[in-house]
Amino acid sequence: MSGTEELKPVRKLSLKENYALLTRGLGWEPSYHAKAAVYPMLAFEGIKVHDWEKWEDPFRLTMDAYWKYQGEKERKLYAIIDAFQQNNGQFQVTDARYVQALKVFINGITEMEYQSHRGFCILSREFEGVGPRIAAQMQSIDELRHAQTQIHAISQYAKYFTGMSNFPYQYDHAWYLAIPKSFYDDALSAGPFEYIIAVSFAFEYVLTNLVFMPWMSGAAFNGDMATVSFGFSAQSDEARHMTLGLEVIKFLLEQDPDNLPIIQGWIDKWFWRGYRLLALLATMMDYMLPKRVMSWAEAWEIYFEQNGGALFADLARYGIRMPKHWEVTVKEKGQISHLLWGSLYGLRQAVAFPVWLPSDEEMDWMSAKYPDTFDQYFRPRYTYWKQLEAAGTPFIVNTLPVICQTCQWPTYFTEPDDPMMICSRETEYRGETFHFCSDGCKDIFCNEPEKYVHARLSVEQIYQGNSFLPGVDPTAPDFNPLVEALKYMGIKPGIDGGDFATHEDARNWEEWTKRAASIHHASPPIKNAAE
Ligand code: FE
Ligand code: ZN
Repeated sequence: MSGTEELKPVRKLSLKENYALLTRGLGWEPSYHAKAAVYPMLAFEGIKVHDWEKWEDPFRLTMDAYWKYQGEKERKLYAIIDAFQQNNGQFQVTDARYVQALKVFINGITEMEYQSHRGFCILSREFEGVGPRIAAQMQSIDELRHAQTQIHAISQYAKYFTGMSNFPYQYDHAWYLAIPKSFYDDALSAGPFEYIIAVSFAFEYVLTNLVFMPWMSGAAFNGDMATVSFGFSAQSDEARHMTLGLEVIKFLLEQDPDNLPIIQGWIDKWFWRGYRLLALLATMMDYMLPKRVMSWAEAWEIYFEQNGGALFADLARYGIRMPKHWEVTVKEKGQISHLLWGSLYGLRQAVAFPVWLPSDEEMDWMSAKYPDTFDQYFRPRYTYWKQLEAAGTPFIVNTLPVICQTCQWPTYFTEPDDPMMICSRETEYRGETFHFCSDGCKDIFCNEPEKYVHARLSVEQIYQGNSFLPGVDPTAPDFNPLVEALKYMGIKPGIDGGDFATHEDARNWEEWTKRAASIHHASPPIKNAAE
């Protein structure tokens, strides 16, 4: 340093002082508007908060520290993604079936990250306490970053494989993406306290390990370093989010005894909604990863039955009990991945990724992992479908299923105590009959029927003629309602879904990886999925 300017040393604030100024010093008491007018969303859910100052954020992250940490993580992440792209990392994964799992990720999970960003952004305005507002603001920025890094990492795959170029449109239109979409639409249209219990506690604290651990280990096992990297980059944010989930529930329960029944109701509802959403992940773990980490049943035992069980035992001192219907999840753990993969196989013309029947070795793995269910209920189905394929008359579902009014899955689940009987429930509301996949989903509807009667169910929309692109003429002689509905959903019939064995991704993979093995530094032609 040169020159003659006199620098007065400024005392640097400690982290604690800095955080106190940020979360207490920046708040103020409104004087020319009533508090109820400034924070209009705080009253109608019935939650009582007497003292927002009691909120303790265990992380006490200040803004400058936040940007510094996040900036460092971004630099490391993008260096790895760059290297991945330079080295054609998309061809280092086990095989093209793994890429189909990435399609489920980009079409479903990435969009949920973005919706989560919106939700926390809303909370950072609606909460009265400055501490929780700052925490919600940081999480909002985190979630936007997660969506962006996932899109950037997966964009490399989209240059070579189909089905990943239309994800925002598909999320809003495809029938099976209505499962994650309806989950977040439900949370976003609730009040701020329900939103934070739903997302931060029920989903992130109780269930997120089931998304994170198998997915990231699955990516590592299958050679996908890009996904492993964005996963680890998000994981440190996730630790903060989970702590927020636990903090918020303890804070609300300590504020007023009247909050307990409301919060228990939300835990019951959002545990069940989150569990139904995770069924998509169960099929991914058991069927879509060429190299498997653990079975869905094993993951459920570790992350819910053991870890979740310990958490709820700990929360018992506040009067909180296990979520309603948790016993059903334990009964279903040997079945849901097989039930749903079989359903996706039947509906393979109507999804945006190709589907396949498990190989003999894979079926042996499943027999070992699912000794009580696989050989008894599911192996015979696959064996029969393989015979039909060999005979040139493959099994295909050409009818439209009944959709659950709450979770929006087709009602393909079975009775908890009878795996050979489809579980279907119904109720009447204002003269109309509504259908459900389970008691859990029926309970959710019956507690708030006015909310769920509005659900936009894909099958009903097709029958009502609302799922066709403009200009389509249903009276035309060659009109095919299923083909037209798929176009409306952003699914290209015969290109996006279908049989894996004859799919473009499988053929290209064969050709490109064979060539890469024989020609040093081979670089396959870039094929645009949209063409
Ligand atoms: Fe996230
Ligand atoms: Zn349901």
